[in-house]
Amino acid sequence: MTIIPIYNYLIVPNATMFFQTDRFQSLTGVKPKENDDVMLIVMKEQQSWDELNEDSFYPIGLSGTVTEVHDEGYAVIRTHDRVNINAIKVFGMYKIELNISRRYDTDEMDPEEENQRLSKLKAAILEYASEFQWGVIARNYIVKWQSVADVAAALAMWISGTDDDKYAVLAEDSQVKRTKMLESMIYEYVEMARLSNEAQNAQKKDTEKLYRKAAIQKQMDYLQKELDEMDPDNVSDVRKFELKINDSGMNETAEKEARKVLNRLKQEGQNSAESGMLYDYLDFVTGLSWTKEKSDEIDLEEAEKVLDEDHFGLKKVKERIIQQIAVMNLQKKQSGSILLFAGAPGTGKTSIGRSIAESLHREYVRVSLGGVRDEADIRGHRRTYIGAMPGRIMDGIHKSGVSNPVMVLDEVDKLSVSFNGDPASALLEVLDPEQNSTFTDHYMNVPYDLSDVLFICTANTLDTIPEPLLNRMEVIDFPGYTATDKLQIARRHLIPKAMESTGISPDRLEITEEALESIIADYTAESGVRGLKKRLDTLCRVAAVEIVRGSDEKVVVEASQLRDYLDMKPIIHDHILAKKRPGIVTGLAWTRAGGEILFIETLFTKGEGKTIITGQLGDVMKESVQLAVSLVKSMFPDKSELFRGNDLHIHVPSGAVPKDGPSAGITLTTAIASLVMDKAVSPEFAMTGEITLRGAVTPIGGLNEKLMAAQRSGITTVFIPAENEPDLRDVDAEIKEKLEIIPVRRIAEVLLKCGLISSEVEKAAV
Ligand code: ADP
Repeated sequence: MTIIPIYNYLIVPNATMFFQTDRFQSLTGVKPKENDDVMLIVMKEQQSWDELNEDSFYPIGLSGTVTEVHDEGYAVIRTHDRVNINAIKVFGMYKIELNISRRYDTDEMDPEEENQRLSKLKAAILEYASEFQWGVIARNYIVKWQSVADVAAALAMWISGTDDDKYAVLAEDSQVKRTKMLESMIYEYVEMARLSNEAQNAQKKDTEKLYRKAAIQKQMDYLQKELDEMDPDNVSDVRKFELKINDSGMNETAEKEARKVLNRLKQEGQNSAESGMLYDYLDFVTGLSWTKEKSDEIDLEEAEKVLDEDHFGLKKVKERIIQQIAVMNLQKKQSGSILLFAGAPGTGKTSIGRSIAESLHREYVRVSLGGVRDEADIRGHRRTYIGAMPGRIMDGIHKSGVSNPVMVLDEVDKLSVSFNGDPASALLEVLDPEQNSTFTDHYMNVPYDLSDVLFICTANTLDTIPEPLLNRMEVIDFPGYTATDKLQIARRHLIPKAMESTGISPDRLEITEEALESIIADYTAESGVRGLKKRLDTLCRVAAVEIVRGSDEKVVVEASQLRDYLDMKPIIHDHILAKKRPGIVTGLAWTRAGGEILFIETLFTKGEGKTIITGQLGDVMKESVQLAVSLVKSMFPDKSELFRGNDLHIHVPSGAVPKDGPSAGITLTTAIASLVMDKAVSPEFAMTGEITLRGAVTPIGGLNEKLMAAQRSGITTVFIPAENEPDLRDVDAEIKEKLEIIPVRRIAEVLLKCGLISSEVEKAAV
């Protein structure tokens, strides 16, 4: 008897199994011989002969007989009964001794039932086999199976499962149970085979389809290219857009939408009503940059140089910008906090934005928000509208041609709310780093990533910027320029630029120092340098005419010629002096254009004690006037007659920002006091400060701007609230030098200095 040790193989009693001759030999050391009895024993784990011992085997084996040996290299074994292995001894290579006894089944399968099960099983296998060409051959073979055990033995090689599972079949004493176990193993196998076959087929189909598609596409591209080359002027729009979409690097959603619109364009043809709209859309989205730009490390020193080259002064602003660049370098980001440049017109807010772009080697784009009332201005119109357009933000991105421009949002203080939605909240979304990576313009209808855009906002005043928007931004003040600053800016930047743009070479025109000073002092009245720039441009144009007329000499502009050259009257600061009359006092206000001086005028007219206010009205101003009137009445009790028999008319010029209203308090009081005392106050005295009912002077805003305005308007002395003294630190030394600045705590101090009350009265006043 030949003993065959096997591992992890399904062996079934009373079945026909096949064995490769070679394998038989390697397991037993002998060739299979017809009619030889064999004994199959099962290893617990895969072991080689020299490792085997009595514990290596499971206690149940299977007896059988070699029934056929074929020249083709296989033998057929008919298995019989299961046996108990009572004892086992391993002597060495191929030498095992067994003591065995037959192991009986505890029950028997009803032949009728087994037949039914067998035919079902065969049917399932036949159905599966029919899907293959080999199924025809297999069929002859399948029909010959006579028992479930035969089927299992035939498929044993492919049946998966653990070594334990397979031995469990052999160890099962109930024939009924064993048959069912085999049956389910076979069904499982057929199902698995079918599935994996399906999956393979599906995969094959998919790949075939892909190959086919790619091949067709290549052919088409090739042919189209040939056509395009033959007739380069006539590459169709559709084709052009198709190429652009292919190359654009759009995100998935955008590409899908673009292809959808492209298909519509194809179907509509060139001349339909809608095709123009479709064309514009494709032109827009394919014109956008859809790829992320690389972020370069920015050399701080070089950036500083660029900023200094383009702009004079603005030290704090430049410092803050350099900080921002440093942070962006560290974070390896292309954007950061949103800066809000706040200051009067012409102070360089927009133009420094351009320099920032230059110092970062990035594109610059300016988006004006002035007068934007409609949410659609920011976010675009839906394409269902006739004449729909993208919003200003995406339009700016389109203009810049990149995905990471420096975008200056100009005049955010001039956004207004209307019934067409709130543009500020749309802008909030644009600026919110949490949301702006998927900003969806209504017109585009697909998200665009704005997270690399460096936003800079500008505003003249913070008062009108909605709180949530303001909270998002970091305010940087542009305080305006002193006369000396302006002189430098003109010499270094404005004059050379103006000459260059008019084509005047440097040696043909000279503007004398006196002339330049006079332009700044007499022909402009501003915080910024816009007016100055205009005047200088005018001078260059006039000089250009002289040069072209043939003057060989250098054109020299003297102060005395300005009136002619500029063709305008000087803004005479002497007009201040004309204001020297009782009841008129110079105040300082803070307007959108920076600081300004203004004259508060008061007058008694016959009447019955009413107070009339004209000019800047509004609740704040009315309250200030009431306060001032009461204060004067209490300070000058002997003048109460005047108030009874007359109406008091007060005129406050409009123009200041509403929040600045109360700061006219001390000016109003002084003006009324001057009126009741019938004594003029020098118009070269200017003042700003809130008052309380008891005559205390309380602090105000915009001190820097107000002092600058005072200085350039020819004021000599300024009264400011004592509590504003610390703010003087930020005021330019030049201004402090030229003005006498008097901090005051009480209105009485002002009145004393203005000569309206005596020092006794001043002392007596609370
Ligand atoms: P804003 O945006 O504050 O209204 P702009 O940026 O438009 O002001 O500036 C107006 C003009 O003045 C520009 O031509 C600008 O180059 C010039 N300018 C402003 N400030 C400076 C400065 N500090 N140095 C050089 N030129 C300046």
